Amino acid sequence: MKQLALLSLIVSCLMLSSPVSAETKDELTAEQKYEKRMELYQKAEALTSIPWHYLAAVDTFERGLRRTLKNRPREEGVISIFYTEEEWAGPLNPDPADTNPLSIQLFGGVGLDGDGDGLAERTNDEDVLYTLAHFLERYGFAEQDFRIALWEKYQREQSVNIIDGHSKVYKHFETLDLDDHAFPMPIRSTYSYRNTWGDKRGWGGRRIHEGTDIFAGYNVPIRATAYGRVEILGWNKYGGWRIGIRDLDNIYHYFAHLSGFEKGVEVGSIVSPGDVIGYCGSSGYGKPGTQGKFPPHLHYGMYRDNGYTEWSFDPYPYLKAWERQDYRKLKRG
Ligand SMILES: [Zn+2]
Repeated sequence: MKQLALLSLIVSCLMLSSPVSAETKDELTAEQKYEKRMELYQKAEALTSIPWHYLAAVDTFERGLRRTLKNRPREEGVISIFYTEEEWAGPLNPDPADTNPLSIQLFGGVGLDGDGDGLAERTNDEDVLYTLAHFLERYGFAEQDFRIALWEKYQREQSVNIIDGHSKVYKHFETLDLDDHAFPMPIRSTYSYRNTWGDKRGWGGRRIHEGTDIFAGYNVPIRATAYGRVEILGWNKYGGWRIGIRDLDNIYHYFAHLSGFEKGVEVGSIVSPGDVIGYCGSSGYGKPGTQGKFPPHLHYGMYRDNGYTEWSFDPYPYLKAWERQDYRKLKRG
């Protein structure tokens, strides 16, 4: 009996000294996180009739912002939607950490109690998700209503477009498990590339050489590298025939100098990694149709959006990783 008491004392001490509880998000696998998130989205949908893919789209957009904006802490749960203390508790609330739904409402805060425990907590997944769903609900349930609500919330056209795109991708695939990537060319094809990031000379970047050039023959298939939605497709003076695809990390993937597009691919098309979207060429540096001013290659660029602005970063390490992954898949058969 004495031993048992001692044991339980040790166990409770261990639990106290442990910095995280057993059920924290860091101990969940990716699959468990998707499952948990989907559960929460569907619960909020049941409460408000806001489609789960709208909620998933905003949450995903905000997850990207948490990863890039220094003034946003990492989320405590699995939901990333962020409210400042001021927004949540109300600008004139003497208690910025207020969790009382009544006083929050009195001071004009948005925070609501979503899980029914009587508290409106800014770091509680269900409370935050319900607060967002309730906000969207006021505008209506149609896609246009959703866009208007997003405009009210973010006051930025590009943020509205990105979130609207995310919602369409989720609606299409009906899953949150969309993290896979692929190398932009079939790895059995003949191609070569080296790290040309930041080179002064290069083709198709926006300023300095913002991307990696992958050299290959004419008409080697060019493939989507992530799950996403075609945001731009057409001619651009430097990029020639080019496609821009937005993925669920708010990253814009830029494919330039194509000889042509895959049939059926257009603005709004939803793609999976490995889907053929066009063909390698040497278009660009002139009026529409100009080609042959340089050897055929794919100019591949990556641009990250943080909700305010967009900037390019070096795609080379990602290309290397996706290439290795594709090799492993090929070997496994
Ligand atoms: Zn280039």
